[in-house]
Amino acid sequence: MSTTQKLLLLPGDGIGVEAMVQVERVLAFFNEKSNNVTFETDSDLVGGCAIDKYGVPLTNEALDKAQAADAVMFGSVGGPKWADVPFDIRPEAGLLRLRKEMDLFANLRPAICYPALAEASSLRREVVEGLDILILRELTGGTYFGEPKEVVTLENGDRRAVDTTSYTSPEIERIVKVGFDLARARSNKLHSAEKHNVMMNGVLWKEVAERLSKDYGKGVEFEHILADNCAMQLVRNPKQFDVVVTDNLFGDILSDAAAMLTGSLGMLPSASLGEPDGKNGTRKALYEPVHGSAPDISGQNKANPIATIASFGMALRYSFGLIEEANVLDKAISNVLAQGFRTGDIMQPNMHQVGTIEMGDAILKELGAVTA
Ligand code: NAD
Repeated sequence: MSTTQKLLLLPGDGIGVEAMVQVERVLAFFNEKSNNVTFETDSDLVGGCAIDKYGVPLTNEALDKAQAADAVMFGSVGGPKWADVPFDIRPEAGLLRLRKEMDLFANLRPAICYPALAEASSLRREVVEGLDILILRELTGGTYFGEPKEVVTLENGDRRAVDTTSYTSPEIERIVKVGFDLARARSNKLHSAEKHNVMMNGVLWKEVAERLSKDYGKGVEFEHILADNCAMQLVRNPKQFDVVVTDNLFGDILSDAAAMLTGSLGMLPSASLGEPDGKNGTRKALYEPVHGSAPDISGQNKANPIATIASFGMALRYSFGLIEEANVLDKAISNVLAQGFRTGDIMQPNMHQVGTIEMGDAILKELGAVTA
């Protein structure tokens, strides 16, 4: 049976716009070819372009559309043009407002090493080839949001900075549950990373994760790992992991480290998920590339669109349950890389350098071939 899925496209600024055009072509392909789904799309402004038109980086109308959509595809925001706008209405505030209002507490950052790009990693081919792991980061709590958060001047004139790390057991429980859900949908293996040896937050995190592993996560292979050891293991032997769930601060660092095992920013997708909305059990969701608006190459047909296209692949997998379509898209990307197509950011000797549009052409052609 075919379902209809509503997608809101928020291309934003800079290369976000160019990359989203390629996603629209992929969407059109599935609308034409898939018997399982019809995508209805709407679009709106976010970031600098919204500031130019409305004076704010995200209007209430755009936010309402995002709340009502089955998933949001986000491009990138920002650029030198808006460097001097007031802090609270800077382009990035549009993205932060979306994350906050949609309560997107679970950030998924896959690190996938396509065989054709194994040489581009700073690690040896055999360590990274075929790597496919997922760092799951808590996104709305912990050290970045805890209060008090301040710099105070002491009586003797010295200054003292305070950041507060705080998690409640429900906050830990909901993210660890997502970890078990994702592990089940992948290789049935979950690591939970914290610092229970030196932090009370780690003690509580471990306690909650341990309890969940005995009921909610029953049947999933589960291990605790200290976050610093996790960082070491990620560069020593990353393929030992499948899903790693961790807090906001450690997740920020571990997801960047894991991502860089695989090469360029232009290849990295991400997803941010909220609570199931109750209606049909699906979660609020926003999908976006990890990279920014890249003003240095914007408007020149140089951007690698794969991070944004692969983010749409994550929407197929995690919002719409269209596993076959997601696998087809991943295969098309992998084949195009194996055929030697490269944008400038991932260019290697003897490969065929192409622009944003030509990379889109190649992926579309390969989608046709894979589904023929
Ligand atoms: P950036 O990610 O935009 O670019 C960093 C470098 O990587 C640049 O040299 C760029 O050309 C290259 N690059 C990035 N994505 C690429 C792609 N798809 N293909 C080829 N090359 C790519 O980071 P930055 O330069 O630090 O920031 C530029 C602007 O983007 C700033 O205004 C920043 O605030 C904003 N930003 C936005 C987001 C977001 O929207 N989520 C994230 C990071 C930065």
